[in-house]
Amino acid sequence: MDSSKYYKIEGDKLVRTHRACPKCGPSFFLANHYDRWSCGKCGNTIFKRKSPAKTKAARRTPRKRTKSKES
Ligand SMILES: [Zn+2]
Repeated sequence: MDSSKYYKIEGDKLVRTHRACPKCGPSFFLANHYDRWSCGKCGNTIFKRKSPAKTKAARRTPRKRTKSKES
């Protein structure tokens, strides 16, 4: 089995493009769907969720303002 498609090279490091099935082990990769990952072996499905906590609580970085108190 050619597993090279499950990886890509970014710069000088190897990046996994697919997730492994937590049930079947690291050698079984999940099929990448637009909204989920699914295992062809055991049928395990993992839904992709953007953690709402992170996206909602988008931290506002306070901008440095030049104080113009002196008028
Ligand atoms: Zn599986």
